[in-house]
Formats: sequence, structure tokens, C-alpha cells
Amino acid sequence: MEHNSYANKVAFVTGGTSGIGKATAIAFADAGAKVVLTGRREKEGAAVVAEIKKRGGEASFIHTDVTKEADVKAAVDFTVQTYGRLDVAFNNAGIEMVGSLDQVTEEQYQNTFNINVWGVLSSMKHEVAAMQKTGGGAIVNTSSEFGLVGGASASIYVGSKFAVEGLTKSIAVEVAKQNIRVNAVAPGAVQTDMVDRFVGKEGEARDDLIAKHPIGRFGTSEEIAAAVLYLCSDAATFTIGSTLSVDGGYSA
Ligand code: NAD
Repeated sequence: MEHNSYANKVAFVTGGTSGIGKATAIAFADAGAKVVLTGRREKEGAAVVAEIKKRGGEASFIHTDVTKEADVKAAVDFTVQTYGRLDVAFNNAGIEMVGSLDQVTEEQYQNTFNINVWGVLSSMKHEVAAMQKTGGGAIVNTSSEFGLVGGASASIYVGSKFAVEGLTKSIAVEVAKQNIRVNAVAPGAVQTDMVDRFVGKEGEARDDLIAKHPIGRFGTSEEIAAAVLYLCSDAATFTIGSTLSVDGGYSA
């Protein structure tokens, strides 16, 4: 891909304060996009903006809780008001939820689905509305390898990511004629704070998870960012409603 293939484009990243979202915000900016990153942590958001500016890019942070539709709408409106348009969006904000069937609670279910599913759906609602005004765009949602094959002691999380798959395929066909492409990325385990919370920083659970990746390691956030930039780029103009696995060969 041309280094400057995002020149004159405006990118929007939810949960951009850490991990995969942070790396993708930086990658979009490095490729020439003006970037709006959203999240709940002001200090971390300001640090990502500072890093992008230090690298010669342009970015803004806006405090957003993806479970609150008014926040999401305000963040998209801010993007259009500040940079004039919205071209590409990465709906990445999400939380993990671990627990066997006997441990699941309604509260865990509501909270996880509120963030991982409603957060993605309401983000798409407002991103699509903005993209329609300027003739199109591209959206990538964050699924998971767990969202394709399932995983023990993670039924709520897995269910939420299967739902992301369904939302992606449904909205993709709904907006394809408007020149808006919707796809998903399904990471294998990636070295972020989330994976440390999932399986700990060392021990059997972590080793077992690494062993399910034939490549013999977890992925990096930058490896996921590269896939998101591909899906949002003009190199992927015939790719609609797809999920791109970026998983080191993950096999459950
Ligand atoms: P992370 O915890 O570093 O990032 C998640 C981000 O989402 C954080 O910035 C967090 O603050 C934000 N977030 C959570 N709830 C939010 C809310 N209500 N409003 C706004 N922001 C909110 O972990 P990560 O690994 O970078 O995860 C990013 C995405 O990738 C998630 O959707 C996750 O499910 C998915 N994923 C991660 C892995 C992995 O192994 N790390 C694998 C597959 C999928």
C-alpha cells in the first residue's frame, strides 16, 4: 500500500486509548489520515494524540462512552465539524468477560453486550449517517477468533463477538449501495492489556493459548492495524461483509 494512501482522509477509532485501537489510530495517522480517537480515558487519549503529533500527524481525542448513543453522535459530529468529513471508521472498543456457565450473571451479560454489541451498532448508525453525506466510506468492526469458533469459559464474550459478526454482515448489505463498505477483523490473541487480563501475564492458561497459535506467539497490535488499514483502503473495494482473520493460524 502506498504510504500516503490515506492522505486527505479522515479516520475515526473507538477505544483508541490503548492496545489495538491505539496502534490503529497511529497507523492511520502515519498513512496520512487525520484521526479522531475516542475513549473514556482522557490522559491516555491525550498521550496518543501527542504521539501522533510528534510523528508529524494530525489527531484529536474526544471523550466517549460507546454505550451512550449521545456520546457516540457527539463524537461523530465533532469529527465532521473539525475535519469536514468522515471516511473510515474502526469500531474497536470492547471488553473481555471470562467465566464458566455456572458463574455468568445478567449484569455481566448486559454490560458486555452493551459495550461490544450496542456500542458497535450505534457507532455504525452515526458513522453511516456522516458517510452518506460525502458519498461513501469504509467501516471495520472488531470481532475475534472467539467470535468465529467459540471458546470455553467465555460464553458472554464469545456471544457478543458472534453478534458483531451478524451486525457486520447485516449492515454491510444494508449500506453497500451507498458506497459504504462494512467488514470485520477477527484477531487471534494479541499482546495487549486485555489478553493479560484474560489469561494472566504467565502460567498454564497463557501457555495453552499461545499453543493454539501455530506461529508460536501472540500477535501485535500493529499486525491488526495493518489489516484494518487494508480493509478500509481502496485495495479492498470489492470486499463487503467479510471477516478477515488475523490470527497466526489460530486453531481452537
Ligand atoms: P484494550 O483493553 O487495550 O482495548 C479496549 C479499548 O476499548 C480500551 O481503550 C477501552 O478503554 C475501550 N473501551 C472499553 N469499554 C468502552 C466504552 N464503554 N466506551 C469507550 N471505550 C471503551 O484491549 P485490546 O486487546 O486492544 O482490544 C481491542 C478490541 O480487540 C476489543 O474489541 C477486543 O474484544 C478485541 N480483541 C482483542 C484480542 C486480544 O487478544 N487482545 C483478540 C480478539 C479481539
